[in-house]
Amino acid sequence: MAVEEYWAPATLSDALERLRGGDVTILAGGTDLMPQSHAGRVTLARGLLNVRRVPELRGIEAADGGVRIGALCTMSELMRDPLVREHFGILAEACDHFASDQLRNAATLGGNVCNASPAGDTLVPLLVLDAEAELASKPDGRVQFRRVPLSAFFSGPGRTARAPDELLCAIRLPRPPAGFVGRFYKAGLRPALDISAISIGIGGVPGGRALGQARVAYGAVAPVPMRARRTEQALEGAVLDAATVERVAAIARDEVRPIDDVRASAWYRRELVFNMTRRMLGDVAHA
Ligand SMILES: Cc1cc2nc3c(=O)[nH]c(=O)nc-3n(C[C@H](O)[C@H](O)[C@H](O)COP(=O)(O)OP(=O)(O)OC[C@H]3O[C@@H](n4cnc5c(N)ncnc54)[C@H](O)[C@@H]3O)c2cc1C
Repeated sequence: MAVEEYWAPATLSDALERLRGGDVTILAGGTDLMPQSHAGRVTLARGLLNVRRVPELRGIEAADGGVRIGALCTMSELMRDPLVREHFGILAEACDHFASDQLRNAATLGGNVCNASPAGDTLVPLLVLDAEAELASKPDGRVQFRRVPLSAFFSGPGRTARAPDELLCAIRLPRPPAGFVGRFYKAGLRPALDISAISIGIGGVPGGRALGQARVAYGAVAPVPMRARRTEQALEGAVLDAATVERVAAIARDEVRPIDDVRASAWYRRELVFNMTRRMLGDVAHA
């Protein structure tokens, strides 16, 4: 069906009212939606809701001891933001690996999250940072909010816990523990402007050749971006000598559930996970 109505409301309440009517496609940066609809892979609904004028979806501000990042923040804004760079550096690092300047200037964090691609580049650092999705709806005429941990948000490729009448307003990140460091790695077929064949996020508090409060996440190796809980348990408190690094990387290789597709075979993805996890943990051990 062709788009019959187009709205660009200036308030959250109006945007949610449109969503409540049903049969609506939400448009943010359009970097995914527009190419996908032109290619016939996505059918736009009867109403197109451009959310770019909604103020509640903008800005990066300190909140609840951490940060609230409006869903409309672009990759370029995240890369430059001093608060993000200082306390949530792994997210800025992932944005730096995202596509090209042109796309980084238009692509939003909310679009990346709601797209729910297993290969979405910001999703791995957001999982490492224990992110929560802030969703708004207006079921009975009043604006209501709820929060969902990102680890429970993705239910399959392109599928999330967001109800059709909900708008993703923001991503909330708690302040990481003192001394926390995080690193992001992305492998693709080309060095730039490529979708991940795999991605890895590792974070924690290094000390005494170990990584405390370890958090590990992988992208493009399962139907949804995943926290690797078994790998985290194996890491916790372990002194990262060569044998331990090898053992933990092998657990990670075993924990991921990749498929064969155009970007890489499942076997190659597992080997990448093993080799790059080993290299990243080796760096921690020698830091
Ligand atoms: C050439 C090219 C290269 C790319 N490279 C990368 C890459 O390196 N890494 C990567 O991760 N992605 C990449 N992408 C995919 C895309 O750019 C990202 O997913 C981007 O973050 C989407 O954001 P957007 O604002 O453009 O979303 P849109 O295209 O506007 O929307 C994407 C989806 O999210 C929904 N949506 C958007 N905002 C909200 C909201 N606030 N609430 C609820 N639903 C919402 C839309 O309805 C739609 O379903 C690439 C795309 C192209 C075309």
